[in-house]
Amino acid sequence: MNNIYRLSNLEIEKWKKKSDQVIIIPIGSLEQHGDHLPVSTDSIIIEHLAKKVSEKIQSLYLPAITFGISFEHEPLFNISLSHQTYSNFISEICVSLVKYGMKNIILLNGHHGNMGCLYYISQNVSDKIHSNAKINFINYWNLMKDFDHAGEIETSLVLAINTKLVKMKMARANTKEIAGSRIAYTSLTTRTGSFPRITGNGVWGDPTKASIIKGRSLLENLTQKIVEIVKEFKNFN
Ligand SMILES: [Zn+2]
Repeated sequence: MNNIYRLSNLEIEKWKKKSDQVIIIPIGSLEQHGDHLPVSTDSIIIEHLAKKVSEKIQSLYLPAITFGISFEHEPLFNISLSHQTYSNFISEICVSLVKYGMKNIILLNGHHGNMGCLYYISQNVSDKIHSNAKINFINYWNLMKDFDHAGEIETSLVLAINTKLVKMKMARANTKEIAGSRIAYTSLTTRTGSFPRITGNGVWGDPTKASIIKGRSLLENLTQKIVEIVKEFKNFN
């Protein structure tokens, strides 16, 4: 049982005494992921990874933060918080955890738009937490060679987590050709409303190529890589 949501105060108190404690905050989004995936896709993937990692290293994890910064998906469905609000929100969660006695916090990020904000959480809270506490963050897609949005990769991941969540009959690749450089698109996709304009339909990649087998293998690989990085964080004082 690693999900803090289901633990009692007494159980968390016991866990807190562990010398190698790690707590993971899975951070997702609520935004359009084509017509075939739920808007909670990023949150589902990232909470699943937090669970799998926690089972391996006996860490705890919070329920996913299902809101993020997703202005780039306008006018399609998204719920987006401003940078400042989001930064304060995540920072105050971290301060609460450290005040309580958590020493190693991992912000496990599942959505590109949250990245800029998360980069500075550790600095933002440094004068509010004691120096023994560490806050680190991981963008899970950085651990993969390829990535997309509601394409082959994300669709495979969700298929492997829960097939029932995917409406494969509705899966369509991007309707506009995407041919520019990764560097240009990394910037362009941070602009408000850019995502549907660039892709035509809000999908980046081809979800019709997705499979459960691909998804399972990606999930296993990601879990292992995250475990290794968390170990690296722990070794660094
Ligand atoms: Zn996504």
